[in-house]
Amino acid sequence: MITDFHTHSFPDKIAAKSMAFLVSAGGLQPYRDGTLGSLKQTMKTDGIDRSVVLPVATSAKQERTINELSKQLNGQDGIFFAGAVHPDCGDVEGTLDFIKDAGLFGIKLHPDYQGVDFDDERYVNIIEQAVRRGLYVITHAGVDVAFRDHVHCTPDMILSVLSELGGVIEDKLILAHLGGYEMPDEALEKLAGKPVYMDTAAVLKLYPEKCRRIIKKHTPDKILFASDSPWDSPGDFVCIIRSFGFSPGDEEKIFNGNAQRILGTAV
Ligand SMILES: [Zn+2]
Repeated sequence: MITDFHTHSFPDKIAAKSMAFLVSAGGLQPYRDGTLGSLKQTMKTDGIDRSVVLPVATSAKQERTINELSKQLNGQDGIFFAGAVHPDCGDVEGTLDFIKDAGLFGIKLHPDYQGVDFDDERYVNIIEQAVRRGLYVITHAGVDVAFRDHVHCTPDMILSVLSELGGVIEDKLILAHLGGYEMPDEALEKLAGKPVYMDTAAVLKLYPEKCRRIIKKHTPDKILFASDSPWDSPGDFVCIIRSFGFSPGDEEKIFNGNAQRILGTAV
């Protein structure tokens, strides 16, 4: 059983436009189009049993529409959704209550696309309120290819939020891209071993040996297999993880066991 914990998909009506924008902003070439249909197709061809879609609210007014749709689709065909929260929404607690009641497992934050540094007090409040409701918080971490001039979520910012919220967020925070896209040395030194989960999205092909070292130090108990599809192929990422030589038990945790523990908390 394989769960891909970090994927994206857009409603059919806006998929082409959204993908064109992201391609031009970030200069990445997608592996598939951005529709839910193509995600399902890729899951079949690449042998993925479940996928987690992480929508991002880039403005406060998108939140409700995104979360309504995620609620409606959540759990169908092995696809699960994170809730979307924007720091300027005006009613963080109401949004989080909606997400919890909808049965979603957590929320996705994207500091670059939401124009907020990860250690900003608005984010700290969202994270604390989410975790108090039993929701997980997954954040983009490290460089974003569309915002290279300012990294909105550095390992130091993560450390500062961890120390500010202390035990409250223990094992509830999920750092995408193994703790820092294009920042593997700093992630290895400062974040590996902290009480957080990390996903493998987008980075496995860029510097596989550094990824292996982060996973080993952080331990497979807190690693979530993830591709960042449509930007990378989940099938290729499965092969890279298998090439690392972890035991079958550790591979099972990375591919599904840890994800099950998280998804199983949603009601
Ligand atoms: Zn992503």
